[in-house]
Amino acid sequence: MDSHGQESANANIMRQLQATFARLPNDIPVYHFIARGDDTIFVQTNRQIMKAFRDLTDKIQFREYFLDHELARKWNVSRSPTLLIAPERYGIRWLGAPLGEEGRTMLEALILVGLGESQLKDEAKAVLKSIDSPRNVKVFVSATCPYCPQEAVNGVRAAIEAPEMVSLEIVDIQCNTDLAEQYSALSVPQCYANDVLVGQGARTEEIFMASLKKLEPVTVFIPENTAELVETDVLIVGGGPAGLAAGIYAERSGLKAAVVERDALGGQVATTPIVENYPGFTQVGGRTLVDIMVSHALEYVPIFQGENVLDITPGDPVVVSTTRRTFHTRAVLLATGATHRLLGVKGEKEFSGKGVSYCSTCDGPLFKGRQVVMVGGGNSAVTEALHLHHMGVGVTLIHRRDKLRAQEVLTKNLFDNHIPVLWDTEIQEIRGDKQVNALLLRNNKTGETSTFETNGVFIAIGYEPTVGLASKIGVELTPDGFIRHDGNHRTNIPGIYSAGDVEGGYKQIVTATGQGSAAALAIFEDLINPYWMKNKS
Ligand SMILES: Cc1cc2nc3c(=O)[nH]c(=O)nc-3n(C[C@H](O)[C@H](O)[C@H](O)COP(=O)(O)OP(=O)(O)OC[C@H]3O[C@@H](n4cnc5c(N)ncnc54)[C@H](O)[C@@H]3O)c2cc1C
Repeated sequence: MDSHGQESANANIMRQLQATFARLPNDIPVYHFIARGDDTIFVQTNRQIMKAFRDLTDKIQFREYFLDHELARKWNVSRSPTLLIAPERYGIRWLGAPLGEEGRTMLEALILVGLGESQLKDEAKAVLKSIDSPRNVKVFVSATCPYCPQEAVNGVRAAIEAPEMVSLEIVDIQCNTDLAEQYSALSVPQCYANDVLVGQGARTEEIFMASLKKLEPVTVFIPENTAELVETDVLIVGGGPAGLAAGIYAERSGLKAAVVERDALGGQVATTPIVENYPGFTQVGGRTLVDIMVSHALEYVPIFQGENVLDITPGDPVVVSTTRRTFHTRAVLLATGATHRLLGVKGEKEFSGKGVSYCSTCDGPLFKGRQVVMVGGGNSAVTEALHLHHMGVGVTLIHRRDKLRAQEVLTKNLFDNHIPVLWDTEIQEIRGDKQVNALLLRNNKTGETSTFETNGVFIAIGYEPTVGLASKIGVELTPDGFIRHDGNHRTNIPGIYSAGDVEGGYKQIVTATGQGSAAALAIFEDLINPYWMKNKS
């Protein structure tokens, strides 16, 4: 385009922007707070940009104050420069200046504030509406980042949609290097809510809002389902690898399926730091693998998360009640997996969540720079001890025998990293005040007791199959407490099947997915040609 063409294109854009601002129903007050003597490029940019916007519309009122002004105190402003956009209505502040790519964010923020509407999709609005306590959101951005505006505008929309719950700070990392360092915001965009890292990179608005709600990184969005009665061919209890694989296979066979998960999707994999033996991945974080599996499953099967299956009444249909609704289904697959075993000592329950933990991936970062013990001698205990060590937690392994049960490669890794081990040692009591501060230990060989100071106790001493639901309806168990099945995943009750760790066996991700898939195919064949009907005739 020649210079004349460029000029006329620019003039056209200006006219369109003027028309857009003219249609906005609300005024847009913008307050610029600066330190006395601050004449940096950031301050100058703010003045120039806001002047350019004011040339387009008189809806924007730009006011400038020093940081010692009473309005700075009123709105708790202490950084120079800070821009507040309509602070009487919304908690939206900009630390720095909308340089480069960030000009797009500022333009969109001004228009949305003038409109007085978030323009979020209904699903994202519904998530925001369900947040029940305030969220202070920080989105770290930079002038040269083309992905930042999407993430920052998500924040603006949240602050406009739920002003009583969400306040937003857009933090320009070039102007606020100290904050960028404090939050380790070395790549942008990066989003924190209540000082918890909830997202990196530009995300869809639904995922952004879901991460604000959960106060954790969220990578898949599962829409709310309000139906009170859902009819399926197969209802899968458990959203671990077995249940997710079963959902994919069932739907691909032509069955109408649903997965119900009461807790975090992915089951035990969600708490696994690193997986190194799932084919296709040399090394993959447990949560990453879960995200991949869940995204894949969602392509086929609806997932009902945060819903506990309470009761199953066999029959035709099988009636399944959860904490949220009822399912009528032709078959149920129990893929309820396993849960961690308790140590069973004094103080364990009392200090659970106050220094006692069963998940190093979840709670390990809270102990960075502090001392903890890991209890156990198997693969999980050693893997988790290494994980804690690598995240900067001082960890001592406590094992009741004089030899570890973990694989050789893990044991070698433990010793190579000089992680101390207390052999032949059992914990007799977990002690503390508000939080764990010590353990009473006993040496099995000498009988000697001693006190060991520590900030935390991580317990990885094995898993119990989750069979409460199965037992309740009369599903037969093996002497070891796992679900008994016929080799085709059929339990003793017609229409009720099992798969994964709840069946015992090797208890691996790859075996769980295999069993889930095989169970779904068996269910498909049985629903076409029911074996229990054949037995009757
Ligand atoms: C720390 C750790 C590290 C591991 N490392 C590896 C590894 O490196 N490689 C490997 O192959 N395996 C590993 N495993 C084992 C692997 O994670 C399991 O074998 C696998 O997750 C079993 O899958 P599953 O679907 O059968 O059960 P789970 O993963 O236990 O999932 C069962 C799900 O069912 C849900 N559920 C139970 N009851 C109900 C109910 N009433 N209503 C709704 N939902 C319910 C649970 O909340 C859970 O999410 C590890 C396990 C742990 C704990």
